[in-house]
Amino acid sequence: MMLRAACLCLLALLLAACASGEAPLTEEERQLVTASHMDETPARRLFGRVRAAAPASPAVLGGYSRGCVQGAAQLAETGPTWQAMRLSRNRNWGHPELLDYLRDLSAFAATLPGWDGLYVGDMAQPAGGPMLTGHVSHQSGLDADIWMLPASDLGLTRQARESLSSISTRRAGGAFVGDNWTEQHWHLLRAAARDPRVARIFVFPGAKVWMCDRETGDRSYLRNIRPLHGHHYHFHVRLHCPPGERDCVAQDPPPPGDGCEEARQWQRNILNPPPPPPPDPAPARPTPARGEIMLNDLPLQCTRVLLRSR
Ligand SMILES: [Zn+2]
Repeated sequence: MMLRAACLCLLALLLAACASGEAPLTEEERQLVTASHMDETPARRLFGRVRAAAPASPAVLGGYSRGCVQGAAQLAETGPTWQAMRLSRNRNWGHPELLDYLRDLSAFAATLPGWDGLYVGDMAQPAGGPMLTGHVSHQSGLDADIWMLPASDLGLTRQARESLSSISTRRAGGAFVGDNWTEQHWHLLRAAARDPRVARIFVFPGAKVWMCDRETGDRSYLRNIRPLHGHHYHFHVRLHCPPGERDCVAQDPPPPGDGCEEARQWQRNILNPPPPPPPDPAPARPTPARGEIMLNDLPLQCTRVLLRSR
């Protein structure tokens, strides 16, 4: 009995070491990495060819823009209140917490007039990691793009999900909301941002200013809504690190306050772009090539996730 307890204890310690990414690669793992040239292949190519997540306990490894996810789950292509879009991209994967969140938010969306739920855009690849196209973040299974187009037909075919486009909700380069913006978008973003699992929502500046101007109740959720260029065909949801996940790297919280003045400054800058900075008197240096993320740049555990996914 004592021995069994000791074994279990040792096993727990080993698992903890693995989970925290401290355990170095075994000789066999290292050989696999070298033999398959994983160490000299851009990480986006390695992660881009993973077709499915290997079964494992879910864990976020690293950060939103420099990480991966172990044991990701695949969002059902069609649910009672959602459809995943652009299925050919195989980016409807994420940490189970993200799937729970999307199910909940889509159920709320279905209560809005004109909405039967959500069209869910890119989440993460099956093992997360950098992508071949688009997105700096979306690497750790905690980011998702939600279409601004109200989901009014949950019977779209695969083909329709490839060809259908979302709608732009901005005008004047994002300084203001456009004709496609509705009160329902506000209520959806407000519900999305009030969820305690959410770290940030990214949307174009005009949408935030619009909400800042109209919110007469509890304004605390506005802090989570961050103005960003683009993000008018969709908004971007980013969750906090799930509780107890020690290898998940969090982002600094947004500055205190509702952030409305900052959003208005973005708006002013769109309408009256500030003059470009004076030319640099120093001799021009060659611009560095686009930073390519290699496996070495990611947590060690991401190499293991990849090896198991192959
Ligand atoms: Zn996004």
